[in-house]
Amino acid sequence: MAESMYIHIPFCNRICTYCDFNKVLIDNQPVDAYVDALIKEMKQIEPMTLRTIFVGGGTPTALSEAQLEKLLIEIDSRFTVTEEFSFEANPDELTMAKLDLLHKYGVNRISLGVQTFNDELLKVLGRSHNYDDIFRAISHLEEIGLTNYSIDLMYNLPGETMDDIKDSLKYISELKPKHISWYSLIIEPHTVFYNRIRKGLMKVDDDEAEGEKYMYIMGELAKLGYPQYEISNYSEREYESAHNKTYWKNDEYFGLGAGSHGYVGGKRYYNIKPVNHYIQAMEEKGSAVKETIELTLKEQMEEEMFLSLRMNRGVDMRRFEEKYGRSLNSVYGDVIDDEKGKGNLMEKDGFISLTKAGRLVGNSVFIGFLN
Ligand code: SF4
Repeated sequence: MAESMYIHIPFCNRICTYCDFNKVLIDNQPVDAYVDALIKEMKQIEPMTLRTIFVGGGTPTALSEAQLEKLLIEIDSRFTVTEEFSFEANPDELTMAKLDLLHKYGVNRISLGVQTFNDELLKVLGRSHNYDDIFRAISHLEEIGLTNYSIDLMYNLPGETMDDIKDSLKYISELKPKHISWYSLIIEPHTVFYNRIRKGLMKVDDDEAEGEKYMYIMGELAKLGYPQYEISNYSEREYESAHNKTYWKNDEYFGLGAGSHGYVGGKRYYNIKPVNHYIQAMEEKGSAVKETIELTLKEQMEEEMFLSLRMNRGVDMRRFEEKYGRSLNSVYGDVIDDEKGKGNLMEKDGFISLTKAGRLVGNSVFIGFLN
């Protein structure tokens, strides 16, 4: 049974140059109608106790206070959250008034989209915030006592140097957030970055330089008290993201909003992506599900492998057998042995996990489980 819920807010005040998420510029968008449609979708789900809710985007903090409160009242009246209620926020939009609202309705974790502390790089990324906004947002968080926040960063940015990474580490050591997400920039098709790189106007690190930065970040964050627990995530021990671990453990969750997907009753479902079509479908049919896919046992096991291997703890061999009625070795013994031989996988205390070297070539390891 799903115990987690993702809610998507597809609006942004500015479109970043690298972004391929499902988002639109908020200007002239039917935001009130979208919030109403979301609430309608929420009402399709029986009121219940959930372990986690994550409101992401887009940018949830792009909503006005009135829109945010309308959404929060509805969530609060229907769901009790026992563990983690997270909101994504952009530093320049996290005003004290919005933060007060989030706090009032039980939000207990903020995922702050910092990306980098370097103003020049922030401009290259097309972000709406600057260095000062980051510190203002964090002082608001501290003032209100919402200290469980994640600083979300990217590396492998065009023009980025090792000094930029060292600066970020210095700020982390001073600010002491509970959690850090630090992803490598992926150049996605149909983005401004993609076109600039294609035209030779910009370049990012080659694989070797990127790998060196990754290993450096991993090592330095561990020294600062943030051991890695997932390929791109680091935290103080008790502050691993409970919601994201739902995905990585291949547990079920509801997905609400335009372009969201959910996993309920062994079926993955996908909502309509364009905002207007989503609203229309909710208004006319009371559902915006575009496609539902019932996973075969083989597909469920494949997903379990490549999702769980993202976590440092890896795949729980006993849990796998209880869940699927087959031992891990009877299904994937050959692939596991092969990757162990290459030094990419290891077995310890009933878990199969990526080695440090394996984390550098994670995708090629995951592909081995898809045949
Ligand atoms: S704020 Fe986030 S969702 Fe919006 S454009 Fe930038 S990266 Fe994309």
